[in-house]
Amino acid sequence: MNKTLCLLLGALLFAAPFFGSVSPDNRSAPADKITAAEIKTLYLTFDDGPTDSTTPKILDILRDKNVRATFFIIGRQIRGREEIVRRTFREGHGIGIHSYTHEYSAIYKSDDALLSDIRKCKRAIEEVLPGFSTMLYRFPGGSFLCPQYRQTVSDAGYHYVDWNASSDDAVLAKATPQELFDRAVNSAQGKSKIILLMHDGVGRKATVQSLPAIIDHFSEKGYVFAVLNDV
Ligand SMILES: [Zn+2]
Repeated sequence: MNKTLCLLLGALLFAAPFFGSVSPDNRSAPADKITAAEIKTLYLTFDDGPTDSTTPKILDILRDKNVRATFFIIGRQIRGREEIVRRTFREGHGIGIHSYTHEYSAIYKSDDALLSDIRKCKRAIEEVLPGFSTMLYRFPGGSFLCPQYRQTVSDAGYHYVDWNASSDDAVLAKATPQELFDRAVNSAQGKSKIILLMHDGVGRKATVQSLPAIIDHFSEKGYVFAVLNDV
């Protein structure tokens, strides 16, 4: 199967569990009664942290705007940044497993290699957050990259989450904050449940600079910000 076809298939498979069910009853609800299905929800997600250059700035903005997000963490980056992870947790954000090494060639070699990487990352997170445990997982590159591993991960009890909108901050290396804002807004168009992909990797200045406007935009559109731990 070629990569484009994999991506298409991945998008279709992913869309089904998250966006396939709106109860017809809700359409006839009284106008003053807002039901769960009518609430527009935005899940801000940040992959590839913690980093010294980006994560604290993202946390500052989220604190100032009083919104919560979810961070998918790279395990081997935790050492020396334990306090950033603790702060992320303390300030009410969701925390998930991303990868220990984030090296595609190693982690996507086999079922065992992938699960061992996930377990190592999970342990690294839980070591700095005693009492916290997570089975939330995001595939590096998205599950679309290697759909054959979806079952592996699910069978091991992990709950993987992809995304259905993106600011493309990892794709557009030299993008301006305005370009990232436009990508985020355009890719989220018409969706009542948005899982927005961004990155708090090293030196993501444009991501930091685009974030306040992204938050303001979706707040004005009536979206509620939620963390993926809630799902
Ligand atoms: Zn990543």
